[in-house]
Amino acid sequence: MADRGKPRIGVLALQGDVREHLYALEAAGAVAIAVRRPAELDEVDALVIPGGESTTMYKLAIAFDLLEPLRKRLADGMPAYGSCAGMIMLADRVADGIEGQVTLGGLDVTVRRNAFGRQVDSFEADVEVRGVDGPPFHAVFIRAPWVEELGDAVEVLGRVETGPGAGRIVAVRQGSIMATSFHPEITGDGRVHALFVAMVRALTA
Ligand code: GLN
Repeated sequence: MADRGKPRIGVLALQGDVREHLYALEAAGAVAIAVRRPAELDEVDALVIPGGESTTMYKLAIAFDLLEPLRKRLADGMPAYGSCAGMIMLADRVADGIEGQVTLGGLDVTVRRNAFGRQVDSFEADVEVRGVDGPPFHAVFIRAPWVEELGDAVEVLGRVETGPGAGRIVAVRQGSIMATSFHPEITGDGRVHALFVAMVRALTA
């Protein structure tokens, strides 16, 4: 009964930091469900695609017979949020992907994998995220992509403000799909997940 009225949000659980997203979604007022099978995908209102490694994740999506069901749900307007590798999975185009790498698509963007370069493999930076109230979001980037090119329908939600990647786009939204280059699930700051849960509530009301 306590779950009545809460959106049911899946976390794609093929690979990556699934548990942290499940926890952050529950904290933001959703019922969070790990999704590994098409039948589990059918049960959710929305989906989070975690960080990890997109070149592994897409192969597992094919192996688990999830590629086409995921594409179909996204095309039908299922709200989705991707962080890091999840952003890559949601991009229509990937720069520096591996031979044969495919994505689910939905975001009219080109993302560049491992864009910030080897020297800055992982870093932290404050990002002003549109829709997130209060101080800038302290964002953790781990071999992160950036958004290199974007279509007219894509709204920029945030950019890196300092360091070698200053000015680069790291948070976007297009209709029902949102993505960040960084990992909000590991910072203990629930505001990006709260933003997504609010978006899901608005879209599925
Ligand atoms: N570099 C990884 C990829 O291409 C993404 C890293 C991450 O998700 N932290 O998928």
